Amino acid sequence: MEETVRTRFAPSPTGFMHLGGLRTALYAYLYAKSHGGKFILRIEDTDQQRFVEGAIDVIYDSLKGSGLYYDEGPDVGGDYGPYVQSERKEIYAEYAKKLIELGGAYYCFCSKERLESLTDANGNRKYDKHCLSLTKEEVEKRIAAGEPYVIRQNIPTEGTSTYEDLIYGTISIDYSELEDNILIKSDGMPTYNFANVIDDHLMGITHVIRGTEYLSSTPKYNLMYDAFGWKRPVYIHLPPIMKDATRKLSKRYGDANFDDFLKKGYLKEAIINYVALLGWSPKENVEKMSLQDMIRLFSLDGISRSQSIFDEAKLRWLNGEYIRAMSQDEFYRAALPFLQTSAVNGKFDLKRISALLQPRVETLGEIPEKIDWLAELGDYDLSLFNNKKNKTDAETAKSLLPAIREYLLSVDDYSNDALFAGLSAKAGDLGVKSGAVFWVLRIAVTGQGVTPGGATEMVSLLGKEETVRRIDRSLELLSR
Ligand code: GLU
Repeated sequence: MEETVRTRFAPSPTGFMHLGGLRTALYAYLYAKSHGGKFILRIEDTDQQRFVEGAIDVIYDSLKGSGLYYDEGPDVGGDYGPYVQSERKEIYAEYAKKLIELGGAYYCFCSKERLESLTDANGNRKYDKHCLSLTKEEVEKRIAAGEPYVIRQNIPTEGTSTYEDLIYGTISIDYSELEDNILIKSDGMPTYNFANVIDDHLMGITHVIRGTEYLSSTPKYNLMYDAFGWKRPVYIHLPPIMKDATRKLSKRYGDANFDDFLKKGYLKEAIINYVALLGWSPKENVEKMSLQDMIRLFSLDGISRSQSIFDEAKLRWLNGEYIRAMSQDEFYRAALPFLQTSAVNGKFDLKRISALLQPRVETLGEIPEKIDWLAELGDYDLSLFNNKKNKTDAETAKSLLPAIREYLLSVDDYSNDALFAGLSAKAGDLGVKSGAVFWVLRIAVTGQGVTPGGATEMVSLLGKEETVRRIDRSLELLSR
């Protein structure tokens, strides 16, 4: 029987969800789900100095919010817990002891000063295996005397390590390039180098999916799998996501945080969809995909070895596609927090404004700037009345507006359709093209060259009282 695929996402709780991390999580999720497997969340919090309040919730919320439900994890349970590394200290201690017995690790008592003295002229430092030669008795004596110590990995000084990565192919690294890194720190906490191996094995992880920054340290992990007599997992390393040709996407540039994109008015579905395309080209060459589509289409053949560049313009475009595909109600619900920050809040029907905006925005963040002006009719440039096609200008406006005003005052049905029909007929009576009426009316009530919707949509939204008030104000401006 085929073994069940088990993948994991193993973030450190930094307080924000990096888009690169989200992509790693997504691919691990897709790989598991497309193979009928399990996706596991493990929190890698052994660096207690970097503790950030609430950071674990950010991870839970980002994953669940984007639909990446994990089968096992700290808050959902599972048979392989605990799923938080800081709760697994005893487990690491036990396996570190075993590894020492197997010759794969050793105690080290070297002082900070001694370690610093190993720094060469170029500022590089490599541990010299000084403590490897300590006898068992000596080690026991020093531990009993309460001397602080770390546990280091014992890496061979010669030879080459080779393994297969499913994306990058055969990877060979000379042991001489590796160092006897610390596995257990003096506070008893494991380092990533140790904990990832112990946990991936004990949690039954079959496929390790992570960034290329781990490509060259994987031989160290393989040494441990081999020493323990454990099966190595399959490795799938993913290329980095770049801001441009030389710089990685990073929190520092303010362009890597999932939450920031939500705040800018991108939809979760669009972000996750876009992130999926950063390094993977689905066979059918589709771009807009639901999570279910992605599960169906996901395949490692489509994953590229080269870095991908994050293109916000493309994300915007995709986000616009998602906005257009929403129902009016869905869009209204998503847009509401943005509508509420706009100056029109409390003045006009937000639901109607949202319907006007849906075909016209790519991100929800554009909403306030697209409608703030609607709150008040300020002074505006009268040359906006100039329109070649409709043969209008300020003079035409001045002559047409009183009749338009009178008409709008006389009717009560302010639905867009009724206004459109009525004003078209009125234009006929006045002996002008309806386009001329709509043009001067739209400018007169909005003072804007571009509006989300035509004259009658604007008038319908403003209502009778406000429309007439604005026409009066425009007539006043025109007669100055
Ligand atoms: N905690 C590591 C990180 O955030 C996980 C790497 C891995 O997936 O093994 O980079």
